[in-house]
Amino acid sequence: MSATRPLPQAIDETKPYWDAARAGKLLVQKCSSCGTYQFYPRSYCIACMSDKVSWVEASGKGMIYTFTINHRPANEYMKDKVPYAVAAIDLDEGVRLLANIVESDLKAIKCGARVQVVFEKVTDEITLPQFKLAGSALSQS
Ligand SMILES: [Zn+2]
Repeated sequence: MSATRPLPQAIDETKPYWDAARAGKLLVQKCSSCGTYQFYPRSYCIACMSDKVSWVEASGKGMIYTFTINHRPANEYMKDKVPYAVAAIDLDEGVRLLANIVESDLKAIKCGARVQVVFEKVTDEITLPQFKLAGSALSQS
């Protein structure tokens, strides 16, 4: 029996994010009062406490802040996926998020490397925003 992948479950605050990911868009929140971007989603601005936060589409471009190559699977599902890369990505909008680096040569992954978002459809409900090295020529079926 194959293991099922642990997946996020959308809640009211995150539903727009997951709906957009399913449509191939990466959203982050932006405060209408002070212009600060934020991620993860919250019902208020972390800079000025305004509740006027809205969703905007991010460029999908960013830089690897730090990363690790996992050789030990985090769970049963990932057992046949090792080695795989997990990275903290600084989006050009100034927010940081965690994702896998996919469709890329693991040896080419470096702190400071430019990345771009790709979308990994996992189920009908959940599509995960992931990243690949910008300009990466590797493709994944
Ligand atoms: Zn604000």
